[in-house]
Order: sequence, then C-alpha cells, then structure tokens
Amino acid sequence: MSTNRTFTMIKPDAVENGHIGAILEKIAASGFKIVAMKYTQLSLREAQEFYAIHKERPFFGELVEFMSRGPIVAAILEKENAVEDFRALIGATNPADAAEGTIRKMFATDISENAVHGSDSDENAAIEGSFHFAGREVY
Ligand code: ATP
Ligand code: MG
Repeated sequence: MSTNRTFTMIKPDAVENGHIGAILEKIAASGFKIVAMKYTQLSLREAQEFYAIHKERPFFGELVEFMSRGPIVAAILEKENAVEDFRALIGATNPADAAEGTIRKMFATDISENAVHGSDSDENAAIEGSFHFAGREVY
C-alpha cells in the first residue's frame, strides 16, 4: 500500500447510534477517497489480534469486547498525507479532549467508545488494511 493511504473503522458504538452515513459524508467532504470498504464484524479473537499492540494495557479486555460486540465499517482511504490528516479529522482519543468539528467530538460516546479508528503510521495503515482486505478488494 502506498503511503498516501490510511485505514479506518467506524466502531460498533457509531454503527449502533446510526452515524455511518454522517461519518462517511464527513470523510468524503474532507477530501478522502474510499479505495476499499466493507460492513463486517470482528470476532473476539480477531479484535484481540487487531489490537495486540495494546494487550498489556488495563483497558484491553474492555476494548476487544467492545470492538467485537457488533458490526463495523472497515475502509481504506486515500489522500495526500492521509495518516496525519485523518488523525486530525477524527480528533483526540478521548472525545472530551477532541477539537470542535472532529468526528470524535461529534459522534463519540467516551474514551472507550470513540466512534472511529484511524491508523497511527503508514506502516500500521498497511498492516491494518491487509488485516481486513485482500488485494483484489482494494481499488
Ligand atoms: P484508535 O487506535 O482506535 O484509532 P487511538 O489511536 O486514538 O485510537 P489508542 O491509544 O491506540 O488510541 O487506543 C486504542 C483504543 O483503545 C482507543 O481508541 C479506545 O477505544 C481505547 N482506549 C484507549 N485508551 C483508553 C482508556 N484509557 N480507557 C478505555 N479505553 C481506552
Ligand atoms: Mg491507535
């Protein structure tokens, strides 16, 4: 995957709360092009694998239970400077600290149920995209 791509998930809380359409609109309006997308659900084991980097953190159990409790939207997004610009668009991990107009400020519930995921590096964007999509599902 080239470095102008990032990976995102609309998390179970935002799906449950009916925010898929509004979040996708905001992503498109911010200049990101969708190059892969699917509606899917992580098993508990898949959530543990996806978030393995956090396995020693105290919130790991809560995080993987949450991420596997319902469907998500997974997508690969393309834009110049995608990783950094998408992190700016989603805002701080804790919506209470997120800037006005960011996706988490608008749609997140709290620090654990925070509406969206955004890759934190080009390397992780490639790993996370490959976790969810086969090559022929990426355009
Ligand atoms: P993400 O990786 O989902 O885009 P992030 O990079 O902003 O979020 P991370 O530090 O990678 O934040 O944490 C991953 C996820 O774990 C957070 O998005 C949140 O759902 C959950 N999380 C992080 N910190 C806490 C916490 N202190 N308590 C509960 N859940 C947390
Ligand atoms: Mg992260």
